Amino acid sequence: MRFDELGLSPEVMQAVTEMGYTELTPIQEQTFGLIRAGRDLVALAETGSGKTSACGIPLAEMVDPAIAGIQALVLVPTRELALQYVVELSQIGKNTGIAPFAIYGGFPMDIQKAKLAHGVHILVATPGRLIDHLYNSTLTLEQVRILILDEADEMLKMGFIDDVKFILSCIMNEHQTLLFSATMPADIEELANSFLKDPVQVALNREEVSPQSIIHRFRFLSEKNRLQVLKQYLQEEKPAQAIIFINSRRNGELLFRKMKGSVDSLEYIHGNLDQNKRTSIFNRFKQGKIGVMIATDVAGRGLDFSGVSHIFNFDFPRELEGYVHRTGRTGRMGRKGVAISLVTGRDLGAVKRLLKEKGIPAAWDGKVPDLKRVGAAKSSRGPGRRPGTRKSRPGRQKKKPAPRT
Ligand code: ADP
Ligand code: MG
Repeated sequence: MRFDELGLSPEVMQAVTEMGYTELTPIQEQTFGLIRAGRDLVALAETGSGKTSACGIPLAEMVDPAIAGIQALVLVPTRELALQYVVELSQIGKNTGIAPFAIYGGFPMDIQKAKLAHGVHILVATPGRLIDHLYNSTLTLEQVRILILDEADEMLKMGFIDDVKFILSCIMNEHQTLLFSATMPADIEELANSFLKDPVQVALNREEVSPQSIIHRFRFLSEKNRLQVLKQYLQEEKPAQAIIFINSRRNGELLFRKMKGSVDSLEYIHGNLDQNKRTSIFNRFKQGKIGVMIATDVAGRGLDFSGVSHIFNFDFPRELEGYVHRTGRTGRMGRKGVAISLVTGRDLGAVKRLLKEKGIPAAWDGKVPDLKRVGAAKSSRGPGRRPGTRKSRPGRQKKKPAPRT
């Protein structure tokens, strides 16, 4: 189906055309009519399938720029996703006069407050910062008619369940709720059952299944050779852009220091960077100005980098879902991507499970390990999460500690 068959307003149609979109992606096709008809929705779709615009395009038409106040609220798990969402909404809505705005932690409340007072139609927010503003009465959700939960499973995984429930209970106005998630764990189901009205469930290729556009390769090696092999890969493969994932900030720090001299335009992004730095790296990477980015899983979920040709797992991810999310940063929108995982003896159990459960074909560069002899271990390398070490606001207990990325 094509966008020009949808009867979009000329303002939105023009913007969509300028964005280079002609055909709807499957998730857009399946959700557009439902969203427009005002239905509540639970949508499960793989990464890179165009969920932002699936919401953003109908939203641009449903929000009335003549009415002051937040008419649509989008909750996202991370700051980067908030920014990414707003950029896309701004493009879609650029001829309509609607004002989207993002609020997230690590940025001065005052500046956000001033902007909020100026009239924001669509607010994109991380749960914690939204609650801070609610507590400070610097925003009101009284006008909200459309609520979107993006990457809902990730939000819950990060320990935001109580925050999300609190926010949902603050929206008294009659509203439509759209819940987007890669997976459907029990807590999402419960959330949908208690807060959504007769939702339609749309399930496309679930995120647990890795997109077809990605070629998965594995390299069996000893731990001490990883750096050298990684450098070799970078030289031989000449990635247009690459992300190298590590499992802890410390590992990232070490790797960054060791590689800095030998790789041009290398950056390291992790959750503990100050927000300006984090945004700057993120933007420059998105614009293609950074060639190689070392990242913790903070960059693993939902972020849309169209130019990434290669994903490297320097550390094999602790969870198989993590593998799918990390590698989903390449091969976006049907483009080809390559994911190369460096695998040591102790990762073999996890690799075996990955190949089996996710239907990924085993392609080994070099030595092929004998997986038949390996027990399929539940988790692999890397330090475990350290629970209870993240600062939490008094009075707002998170159920699970957020991962320290
Ligand atoms: P998801 O949230 O499902 O992971 P995104 O919304 O980030 O996916 O979209 C992935 C990429 O696809 C973005 O670069 C977006 O601009 C692009 N995109 C979305 N819809 C279309 C479309 N209909 N035609 C072409 N590109 C699209
Ligand atoms: Mg998304």
